[in-house]
Amino acid sequence: MDFEINTKGKGLFLTLSTISLIIIMAFTTLLWYFISPRLHEISFWLAKSILNLLRLFYLLIISGTILLFVTCYLERVVKIALPVVRIAIKFLFPITVFFGKIFMIPKDKIRNSYVFVNNSFIKAYKKHYQPEEILILLPHCLQNADCKMRINYNIENCVHCGKCDISNLINLAKKYKVNIAVATGGTLARRIIIKTRPKIILAVACERDLVDGMLDVFPIPVYGLLNERPEGPCINTRVNTEILENILQKIIRSER
Ligand code: SF4
Repeated sequence: MDFEINTKGKGLFLTLSTISLIIIMAFTTLLWYFISPRLHEISFWLAKSILNLLRLFYLLIISGTILLFVTCYLERVVKIALPVVRIAIKFLFPITVFFGKIFMIPKDKIRNSYVFVNNSFIKAYKKHYQPEEILILLPHCLQNADCKMRINYNIENCVHCGKCDISNLINLAKKYKVNIAVATGGTLARRIIIKTRPKIILAVACERDLVDGMLDVFPIPVYGLLNERPEGPCINTRVNTEILENILQKIIRSER
């Protein structure tokens, strides 16, 4: 179920998360080593309960990490485990960013990798949606910088001059009868989401906006597509509409 041309990039986030979790486990073990004699002095049962909690914590971390790798690389997994793993990757993101800073890995590289990991989970769901349950959410920077049409107010204001990808994207949304909107920021995006009440969002944006949006609207699944920036960030950006159409075809519920 390949939606994208580029499906690489998950490795960084997965490696960094694993290293982060190993460090956390090593730290808690060390902490236990130092405080357990004191805890035993206070109460045997208190020490035993904390040790059991620690064992449970390790079990969750190890099984969660295995599940994370299996889901990401096979893109299929026991469905009942998916919500748990999705919650785990949401909380893993700040942890990996924290450890990424220590290893001097740029935040955008981690975000980029996170987008691919997140997308793997949506593919693993193999869930299909009615067209009206799908929202294509676009960034304002896709609009040609010289265009005066107020498409963030209403995307239908586009007059289809063809100078940017908005025209093709509107046609795509019409073809598949899905919702489409342009958001200039998080507040407007949230307003659009409240209005359209999507069950899934196909979002186009840069690494920072995509990941912020994904974490912001959780638990609504967001399939992220990174925009292309031939003229640099935030101006005249582009998106591969073929990939977007491919994703739509995979997630729309077939009437047959
Ligand atoms: S395609 Fe639409 S949004 Fe893009 S420049 Fe032309 S009128 Fe403006």
